Amino acid sequence: MAEGITYDHIIAGTGLAGLTLAYKLSQKKEYQDKKLLLIDKESKTKNDRTWCFWEAGKNDFESIVYHQWPQLRFASTQLNKELDIAPYHYKMVRGIDFYKYVLEAINVAQNITVVQDSITQLEEQDDTVVVHTSANTYRGQQVFKSYPDRLAHTQDQFVWQHFKGWKIKTQTDQFDPKEATLMDFRVTQGNDTIFFYVLPTSEQEALIEVTLFSKDILVSEAYDPYLKAYIGDTLGIADYQVEEEELGAIPMTTYNFQQSRSTRIIPIGTNGGSVKASSGYAFTRIQRDIEALIPFILKNKLDEYTFPRNRYVLYDKIFLNAILTGKTSGAEVFTRLFKKLKPQNIFKFLDEEGSFLTDLKVFTAPPTLPFLKALVEELRGL
Ligand SMILES: Cc1cc2nc3c(=O)[nH]c(=O)nc-3n(C[C@H](O)[C@H](O)[C@H](O)COP(=O)(O)OP(=O)(O)OC[C@H]3O[C@@H](n4cnc5c(N)ncnc54)[C@H](O)[C@@H]3O)c2cc1C
Repeated sequence: MAEGITYDHIIAGTGLAGLTLAYKLSQKKEYQDKKLLLIDKESKTKNDRTWCFWEAGKNDFESIVYHQWPQLRFASTQLNKELDIAPYHYKMVRGIDFYKYVLEAINVAQNITVVQDSITQLEEQDDTVVVHTSANTYRGQQVFKSYPDRLAHTQDQFVWQHFKGWKIKTQTDQFDPKEATLMDFRVTQGNDTIFFYVLPTSEQEALIEVTLFSKDILVSEAYDPYLKAYIGDTLGIADYQVEEEELGAIPMTTYNFQQSRSTRIIPIGTNGGSVKASSGYAFTRIQRDIEALIPFILKNKLDEYTFPRNRYVLYDKIFLNAILTGKTSGAEVFTRLFKKLKPQNIFKFLDEEGSFLTDLKVFTAPPTLPFLKALVEELRGL
């Protein structure tokens, strides 16, 4: 079915954004007469990542939520606080469950073809896009592209949020599976922001992650001393086994990814700007951004689609400026936020759904002078 056909749409890269788009389109009756091709260089059969996110309601992938926590904790040298997050839950979806669920769901759709191949080039012609891969060429009216060619976004405020996680199993009960630690800053902070997540899925199992914000990503072994010291000294756990590892890096940037779009090649996911620049969270935003894109696809009006850029871009710029230029530290900012504010208001702000008043509260909670200086610098740069 692949060659000789011009597909209506091609999804180039089927990770979270690509598969979310394919899944949502497969659920629409009005899309059933369209031809959709999915291309990814990977088979998507590995558990290559774990997504966590807060949510007050339910999402399309609720049935594969692996674990959820009604309560969170924030810790730093100045604050150790239990966070009651109702009506939110903090949820975990494993990559492998998501890929399997979506690929099985779209397998039954007659109009969707999935191929495993590495894309080498997208060539835009007058009325189609030619997708060159290692083994083939494909044609599509429009391509949704979810992988980056190069890191063009280094021009703007930019930092990597990079991390390594160990899924550990302990000999005795050590964790409360109803409480996850969202951020634990109880580790010496150098020039870079560094903190830990603790995500227990039972009394004896947890994913523990060390996360850094810095310009350079570390080699895998460089994270291990942080994890060992945190588990041993801060959590006081001596007897455990590492069952799985997770390594990752997320770009935190206010770069406008959509400036590279054309009428036929539409960037989506991380490559489309769906990662929140000041937090690195993307799961919920990818669902939201893909949902907003669907009506334009169904009405064949992609030329009218615009990606939302709102006032929160300025807030993100100010946050990154204040932290990256050393005006204040990540530990200081987050400690103040969680000390002064309800977590629900912080979530609303990070979800870009705050009112003017809640935004103002969040904006004025971190150290005032560094944020004002960052505001002035960013306004000058506009
Ligand atoms: C380890 C990890 C953990 C994360 N955890 C969280 C979290 O807890 N919460 C949260 O909100 N966000 C998290 N994120 C951030 C974000 O949600 C994920 O990166 C998410 O997978 C982004 O989706 P995407 O579709 O943009 O990219 P991806 O899911 O990375 O998909 C891109 C796809 O493109 C394919 N591809 C690349 N190059 C080519 C090519 N040349 N040809 C064909 N295919 C290609 C890749 O194989 C991949 O399948 C995490 C990121 C990582 C890396």
